[in-house]
Amino acid sequence: MPTLKPPALHALISLIARRMGSDAAETKEVADHLLRANLTGHDSHGVGMLPAYVRLLQDGFLVPNQTPETVLDAGALLVIDARRGCGQRMAADAVRRAIGRARELGACVLALRNASHIGRVGAYAELAARHGMAFIAFVNVTDHHDMQAPYGCAEARVGTNPFCAAVPGGDDGSPALLLDMATTTIAAGKARIAYNKGIDVPEGSLIDADGHPTNDPGGLIRDHTGALLSFGKHKGSGLAVMCEIMAGALGGGQRADQTCHGGILNSMLAVVIDPGKLNDPDAVAAGAASTAAHIRSSRVAPGFEQVLLPGEPERRSAERRGRDGIAVDDGTWREVLEAAGKLGITQGEIDQVVASNA
Ligand code: NAD
Repeated sequence: MPTLKPPALHALISLIARRMGSDAAETKEVADHLLRANLTGHDSHGVGMLPAYVRLLQDGFLVPNQTPETVLDAGALLVIDARRGCGQRMAADAVRRAIGRARELGACVLALRNASHIGRVGAYAELAARHGMAFIAFVNVTDHHDMQAPYGCAEARVGTNPFCAAVPGGDDGSPALLLDMATTTIAAGKARIAYNKGIDVPEGSLIDADGHPTNDPGGLIRDHTGALLSFGKHKGSGLAVMCEIMAGALGGGQRADQTCHGGILNSMLAVVIDPGKLNDPDAVAAGAASTAAHIRSSRVAPGFEQVLLPGEPERRSAERRGRDGIAVDDGTWREVLEAAGKLGITQGEIDQVVASNA
């Protein structure tokens, strides 16, 4: 299992993204994003996504260097159709526009439609927080076979539909708190990683083709049967359904009930809020810190080592992996090399780019 230091992984991702046809700016957006996903511990959304992106490109479902269409630009409302553009770039550019608008008007409602996979949604919350903005997002996942069985369903009917919310922290620009999660018990990419590693998924996260509980990710990943379960029974399921409705029916992105072509589309209804227009920004950061301290002051529950807050596991992982490097499991590494090969990248080029950035 190779362990790569961040510059080596960044260089490898950049080589593949560039060969996929992305220009320099888009390549940087993709490499920064995927590396950050690995650093924060979300291997499901890191370098291991590249094989899927190469497939999407070769099947015509991912358009490098796409020009998004501004469908509506009316004060605090922005509607942007990404037209299957590279998700990381489409979403980051759209959120940057929404940040500018929120700075002017206090808030901006952004409906981003039909981007190819946008990856780790928390990245856009971090982007907003670096600009001093609070961020809320409802995201759906479509054009792909459904992955999540809503409460009471014996089969999948929506995607893993992530929800994300963050408020900015202090002067360092990092979010004070950042909740970023799939509405399934585990993200689909985590089932893929488990499959690649030949291990089970956690109890209560998956059902098989007949609707019975299973821990084997093979059906879902290899045969596209069965479904991931919503977290928190009817409540997580309800949030997943609302992500679908907010991003699809309200935001105008593709919906889970529409024809699936075999790509991966993310639509996102996001709200960017300038805290300074609602409250004193220092008071927001201080209030969030005080709330966090209040929660942390609790006695630790049996079976837990400590109380963590949303965003903390990611910050800790980023520190650790930034120092020690990122271990890429053998199954994922093999898939990445195969995907690179499909773009005509040789093993020698990979060895060279990794060695020269080690
Ligand atoms: P997760 O379960 O690892 O974490 C979810 C949230 O819980 C995070 O905010 C984390 O900080 C917090 N958390 C984790 N452990 C904690 C603890 N012990 N105490 C307190 N808080 C804790 O995340 P996930 O649901 O597996 O999602 C992984 C990633 O997948 C996310 O970045 C999400 O955006 C992404 N995703 C993307 C898509 C897409 O289509 N683009 C779809 C689904 C998920």
